[in-house]
Amino acid sequence: MRKLCISAEYGYHARFVERVTLAKQMGFDEVFLSMRRRGKRLALFEDICLGIELCKQHNIGIEFIHLPNIKNYNLLWEEGTNGDIFCDYLIGIIAQCAMLGCKLFVTHTGYKKELMPPVNEFGLKRFERLAKACEKFDVRLAIENTESYEHDTFILENIKSKNVGLCFDSGHQNVFYNENEKDILDRFGNRLMAVHLHDNFGEKDEHYIPRYGNIDWDILLAKLKTLPEVAITFEIKNFTLFNENHEPQVLNHESEEDAKLFLQKAVSVAKEMQEFLK
Ligand SMILES: [Zn+2]
Repeated sequence: MRKLCISAEYGYHARFVERVTLAKQMGFDEVFLSMRRRGKRLALFEDICLGIELCKQHNIGIEFIHLPNIKNYNLLWEEGTNGDIFCDYLIGIIAQCAMLGCKLFVTHTGYKKELMPPVNEFGLKRFERLAKACEKFDVRLAIENTESYEHDTFILENIKSKNVGLCFDSGHQNVFYNENEKDILDRFGNRLMAVHLHDNFGEKDEHYIPRYGNIDWDILLAKLKTLPEVAITFEIKNFTLFNENHEPQVLNHESEEDAKLFLQKAVSVAKEMQEFLK
């Protein structure tokens, strides 16, 4: 059976340990971690190391680490030392987490399509450096489809390393890719390393529980069944449930009871997928 994984940042505003242990108690097997900026500073190594250590202490598996500071990713496509320094920073994170036993990393290719520099050699060289680092540390890097189909496919097309593959994000495809671009699983699904499953209505990246939005899950799951087996990872963070009449019920981020309701619904959907995909 595939593992059930959820983002450690699923919307419950409690301390890290309470959040992830509740997710486990409600039926998820493991979590994935992402780091936040600290005000204007980049996230620190210590933030993620602490998260990894706390998960170990509480016997909660980590499916992957989401590389941090997504707003800085456009630097990777720019000429100059700032891009090199940011690339070094990401390699440092990978090295540090690899030493702590993490095997899989997820990265975006840029931040906001309209702000991204055009596809170019600077970007390719830096992603090649990330790929080489992953080979060296014997870990894998999954390129997540984010906003720009052109950048996402350029990297996947041009970096053939077996340590580099695809992280398929269902919600991003639904919102950011146009109809001609919804073929990333056809093109790169044989290199699938992770999924981010969440739903929306094709307009905003809402990160709802799957089956609440307008993604055709039956088609998507049938496709996933034909691809390399990966954990069923929910990247949900919108603390909302919908009743039978499709009316939203916004939950209280501070309430443990509401967190339980939210996780209960998410686990029931994840378990149906697990059954279908076994
Ligand atoms: Zn994602």
